[in-house]
Amino acid sequence: MARFPIDEFKELATPFYFYDLTLLDRTLAEIKRTSRDERFRVHYAIKANANPGILRRIQASGLGVDAVSGGEILAAIDAGFHGEQIVYAGVGKTDAEIRLALNNGVGCFNVESEPELDIIDEIASSLGLKANIALRINPNIDAHTHEYITTGLAENKFGINLDQLPDIIEKVLRLDHINLSGLHFHIGSQITEIEPFLMLCETINRIQDEWTERGVEFKTINVGGGLGIDYADPDRHPIPDFEGYFKAFRNHLRLRPEQELHFELGRSVVAQCGSLITRVLYVKEGTTKRFAIVDAGMTDLIRPALYNAHHRIENISSPNDVKHHYDVVGPICESSDCFGKDEMLPAIRRGDFLALRSAGAYGEIMASQYNCRTLPSSYFYEK
Ligand SMILES: *Cc1c(COP(=O)(O)O)cnc(C)c1O
Repeated sequence: MARFPIDEFKELATPFYFYDLTLLDRTLAEIKRTSRDERFRVHYAIKANANPGILRRIQASGLGVDAVSGGEILAAIDAGFHGEQIVYAGVGKTDAEIRLALNNGVGCFNVESEPELDIIDEIASSLGLKANIALRINPNIDAHTHEYITTGLAENKFGINLDQLPDIIEKVLRLDHINLSGLHFHIGSQITEIEPFLMLCETINRIQDEWTERGVEFKTINVGGGLGIDYADPDRHPIPDFEGYFKAFRNHLRLRPEQELHFELGRSVVAQCGSLITRVLYVKEGTTKRFAIVDAGMTDLIRPALYNAHHRIENISSPNDVKHHYDVVGPICESSDCFGKDEMLPAIRRGDFLALRSAGAYGEIMASQYNCRTLPSSYFYEK
């Protein structure tokens, strides 16, 4: 079990996000070590967590940013990232967001449809600028067989289907205010096996070979993100297998000379450094069940309610007590507001602190004020 400075928690209002910056720094150092290749550029997918304290650390480590909205572009710039370090993706970019991105000199637009291309060209023209773009391709890789969160299948809103690529590339090459920089892919999230990434490499090799034959070369290949983490046992794998991940691309993707390979990692960068800390309000005896009712709810951490995700739960106030079964539930008026069923946990009393682990990604950033609740605060810890 991870150690928490629990004496300091007693003065704090709960729930709050606890961030272990030492672990974040170790994670960033590992990314740096394992992605050391002059052709590799790693962007942090800011949608996983845009807490300014976290962003500044990531900025200092030298990563770029993958943004999916104008708000994320501004958050990145506030944290010290330069425009050219930002890639900007999203199926529904508004005119105002495109203008903002162009005015801030973002490095690349990841374009998801043909009509979007026309609008970027039009707006860039009106500003007297040229937009660097990558075409987001739908590689039709079914990661769903492994129950990943897929985005790479043909029938979904993301990206451009492969059969439409020739027409679109032909069009891009004719547009005056668009510079075709490369191809972009993103096959899904929480991928814990290497195989889907190998399939992606194969697909990209095939596409590149076809286009080389037609005399088109791409300056950048962007393989998106999706590397998963160990939710079941965060202390066994506090840092994801970046070594294996980058090695898969180094060994299987045939990059052209001078070509850059871009990555967009979100979850794997920040998930394990964060825990949601909550206080137990009541222990309620049902007829067959015992409930631990906590002061954090689905408004603070929505992943269990939204994706049926499970975060490891620990009683950090009395870790060594005899264990009992508990359903750990929040205070929100929704039955889905439940963090765990039949959890075996050391005896829980009112006032105990529970930690919901691996909550650094898609946690705080997805918090809402449903039920007129206040948003959770954050607490930074360094050893
Ligand atoms: C969400 C997203 C990512 C990051 O995904 P993770 O699974 O958090 O690594 C990367 N690229 C794009 C386009 C995304 O939408």
